[in-house]
Amino acid sequence: MHDGSIFKASSEQIREIGKKHKIDLNLLEEFLTPNRVVISKLLLKRDSGETNIVKSYRSQHSNKLGPYKGGIRFHQNVSKDEVKALSLWMSLKCAVADIPFGGGKGGITIDPKTLSEKELESLSKLYAKAFFDVIGPDKDVPAPDVNTNPKIIEWMVEEYIALSEKNSKNYGSFTGKPVKLYGSKSRETSTGYAGVTVLIELLGKLKKSPSDMTVAIQGFGNVGYNFAVASENNGLKVVSVSDSKGAIVNNNLEPLDIELVNACKKKQGYLAGCYCVGGVCDLTKGRPISNEELLELDVDILVPAALENVINEKNMKNIKAKIIVEMANGPVSTSAYDYLSQNGVIIVPDILSNAGGVVGSYIEWLQNVNDEQYEVKKENTMLEDIMKGAFEKVWSTSIEKNIPLREAALLTALHKLL
Ligand code: NAD
Repeated sequence: MHDGSIFKASSEQIREIGKKHKIDLNLLEEFLTPNRVVISKLLLKRDSGETNIVKSYRSQHSNKLGPYKGGIRFHQNVSKDEVKALSLWMSLKCAVADIPFGGGKGGITIDPKTLSEKELESLSKLYAKAFFDVIGPDKDVPAPDVNTNPKIIEWMVEEYIALSEKNSKNYGSFTGKPVKLYGSKSRETSTGYAGVTVLIELLGKLKKSPSDMTVAIQGFGNVGYNFAVASENNGLKVVSVSDSKGAIVNNNLEPLDIELVNACKKKQGYLAGCYCVGGVCDLTKGRPISNEELLELDVDILVPAALENVINEKNMKNIKAKIIVEMANGPVSTSAYDYLSQNGVIIVPDILSNAGGVVGSYIEWLQNVNDEQYEVKKENTMLEDIMKGAFEKVWSTSIEKNIPLREAALLTALHKLL
């Protein structure tokens, strides 16, 4: 148990792996402690003329492998403890992916929905100015995260350029930029695409053909939708998808036509009723189910790509899929992970399966610092190569030591970082 500190709970998980695998505990403690957490008070002038003091953070966890890397979130729950924990996970994720970045994370404690667009722009620029000295293409490279997007990054990078010099390298101070500002063409698709790359590698190891596999995906946002598209392109059968309002499934677990489903969702704003198979959408072809039921479908592969902790002590005994790909962050609780792993379910951990986001960012940064622009094909080939390499390392550690993939991923990262 922990005292409510996410950082302490995360550190404890890593310590347990360290103890089990006889890692030097002094080195481990040194690694766990963030290099520094920079805190700044931002003076936000509201449209009303009133001034608010807003707390903001940048946790720079480890730069042993390269510049700190990690998103900036705008949320009312952002705290020093949270950014410390998230930056620790970024250090581990970049090490698993084997890219030359360390771990960082930033945030502003505010509910952005309470701000006008002008206030949001002003706050984003205030953040870039306040942290100007500690960020940069060779120091710390932030990106979007919860409630931040390419527009917010555009405001931040504009402020960074205004305070430094306008050249390609300085655009590498942030990733997740719009394409017109030296953003990557494939960043939007990279997380889902890379998750499927890892899944295909896994199926290869298990000697299973993708075309025999049925898939259910929870969440149809950036990650879930792009995972569904890449799955379809690789011959997997996506039979059920969901959004916050519920899930759809076809009557005979027939594969959905993802582009038609997406067009249907775009038109009506939600997925319910989008039973699109074989080029047509037909209400008699499927039925609505809840998000909870989706998780318990009799499919081969389950992909939680929306929220954390959705597979937990309450439903773990009802999970039928034999493979789970964690695309959201932390969708399988620790106890469910242990229970399912012991029962032969292979769970690809988030730290590996959703690393495509940060790898996509790395590919964007690489183009900026080298003053180059790659075509989408080259970006995707690089992404695939990096993900395949990362999977291979984690898989071989898992086989060699006879441990689940999550433990193998963390161990692989710690060996690089200590
Ligand atoms: P998103 O906002 O684009 O999509 C989220 C999806 O989840 C939406 O379809 C939404 O309808 C659905 N959803 C919301 N509440 C739900 C509920 N109660 N039940 C089922 N579905 C629900 O977000 P995203 O970028 O796709 O991110 C999804 C997850 O992946 C998050 O955990 C995020 O941290 C993680 N992640 C994202 C990236 C990335 O590059 N976008 C990278 C790594 C990890």
